[in-house]
Formats: sequence, C-alpha cells, structure tokens
Amino acid sequence: MKGSSFFTIFNINLVNYLDKEEVKMQVAKFAQDKETIFTTTFDYAGSPVCNAIVIIPPDFRTIHDTSRFLRDPKGLNLKAFDLVASDRFAKRYIRGGESEAKTLKIACNDHEVSLAVVIHNAELIIPDRFNNDRKKEEYFHRKRMMEFGNKFMDEHPNVRFVPIFVRIVDGDTLEYVSFEGLFYGGEEKVVWRVAFSFRNVVSCEYLLIMCLDFRFRKECFDFSKAILKMPYFHLLGIPGASQGIINDDKAVIESLQNALKSGVRKVAIIHHANCTAYKKDVENLSISQEEEFHRVQLFICKRKLHDMGFEEVFTAFVRLSEDRSLMRFVVVK
Ligand SMILES: [Zn+2]
Repeated sequence: MKGSSFFTIFNINLVNYLDKEEVKMQVAKFAQDKETIFTTTFDYAGSPVCNAIVIIPPDFRTIHDTSRFLRDPKGLNLKAFDLVASDRFAKRYIRGGESEAKTLKIACNDHEVSLAVVIHNAELIIPDRFNNDRKKEEYFHRKRMMEFGNKFMDEHPNVRFVPIFVRIVDGDTLEYVSFEGLFYGGEEKVVWRVAFSFRNVVSCEYLLIMCLDFRFRKECFDFSKAILKMPYFHLLGIPGASQGIINDDKAVIESLQNALKSGVRKVAIIHHANCTAYKKDVENLSISQEEEFHRVQLFICKRKLHDMGFEEVFTAFVRLSEDRSLMRFVVVK
C-alpha cells in the first residue's frame, strides 16, 4: 500500500466530519488493538426485523439521493431494508437468473419482508440505442420493471412490489416516478424530487463491495467516508460481499467489469460477522475460527480483484463484541 493511498487511515478528523447525531462513533484506541480502526454501536443486537428488500443500480451518482428517498418519512420511510446493488438485476431475474431468484427468495421467505422496491436510473449520458430520446429510455425501463413485477408477484404474492424510475429533468433535477399504480389500473406518480447534485461529476474511482445485510450498511458507509476517505463510491451490494466474486458469479463479474470500464481503480471490500450468506460454512466454528474463515475469503478475493485490474484493494472485517453491543472494523491484510 502506497503512502499517498486514499486508504491512508490514520490521518482523520472525525470531529469535523461527523455531525452531532453521529458522535456515538469513536476511533478505537490503537494502543490497545492495532488492527481495530473504527468502533461503533451495533443497533440490531436484539431480534432484528427487516421490512424490505431494495434493488438499485451501483451508480455512484444516485446512491446518496436514493438512500435519502428510501429513508425519509416523505419518501418511502423504510427503517430496515436489505440493499442489493448490482447491474442488470431485473434483466437477469426475468430471464431466469438463479442467484437473483435466490436473493429474492431469501429476503421474502427467510427475512419475511413485506415490500420489494426496484429502482432503475436514467443514465447521465443517454445510451446510443435510445437515439437521444429520454422517453424511449424510460419506456424501456418501465417495460422491464413491469415484467419484473409480474414475475415477482407470481412468485411472492404476499409481498408488495414498487418499481421506481429515476428521471433526469432539465439536467439538474432527479424525479423519482413510481409505476406501482400501473399494475392496478392506476397511473404513474412522481413521489420524490431532488436537485441532481452529482450531474457534473464525470467519474468515480471508488467502489465499495459489501453484503446486502441491513444491519451493517449505515456503519459501512460511515466507515468508507470517514476512515477510508472515499467521498462517494459505486456500490456493489451482494450476498456475502466477496462470495459471488470468488464463485465467479456472472452478474457480479459483469458488474466489476463495468466498474473497471467506468474508471474504478480503488476497491474496499467489507465482510461482517454473523453473515447469513456463509451460514453453512461457519455453523460449527468458534468466533475466532469464523473470523479466520472470512480473512481467507477476503484474501482470495483481493488477489482476484488485483488480477482483474483494480489497483488498490482494501479489505476489512466487522467483528461484533461479545455482548453484541459494538461493531469493530478490523483491517485484514
Ligand atoms: Zn452478510
């Protein structure tokens, strides 16, 4: 790791970075545990309830605003939701993709979510195939999301399905349009509007790869911004973070190749304790053996990402304290 790396982790000023709401976070004492670089409270220690699964594109330009839309009381007002961030999830699911069907099945059956939200974005630069016609682009996504919905509601009749398209209006505004009404003879509806703050940001060299698990997301985002100094990032949110990379999952590899093409050079991968994606692998292991297992996975994944052409790869594991009140971010080398 180079000295000028963006992953220079010790030169931080959390007090300036964090607002009052986030003062609960603190940097761990390096003298006590040199590996731990970030400690924060674990909010889901009890019996966690996850309300929804949300599927978004990995694009850094809309992640921030979409997160707000999902949480805000005037938006979808979601409290705890699994977040899948992946390229062409809808297309794969419609065409019978196994890992997509499995991801949805786990959310709907094991986590018992009552809501599935699928979000598609208009692209900043409209793809050639739409002949510079935003309406064509929107029509394409509406059709695909409706197909998704029809298949999904057949398979999961008790789960509400909400398709959202993010329009770019006049180049400076994002408009979130819900197509849910179209399934029931109603109309589409604009449900959120926000200034398009990333419209002039040409590219992004950072990628965060993490599990879709709702219990660790906010903290992983905080960690990436405050400690890793990634001001914004593409997001690959998939079950078990590196699992799909190590297993050569087609969808995941394609998302990574797209990230490379779009200029990503620096990657952070975060694994966490108590990960459902690795349940079978770790069920008979002690806590320290479980961590060792994740370290090996991260090591293999890191090598693979380097081989693919990513310049810097940072790996971390999130430990839970014995009483499950704290999360500790540990550097994996
Ligand atoms: Zn997980």
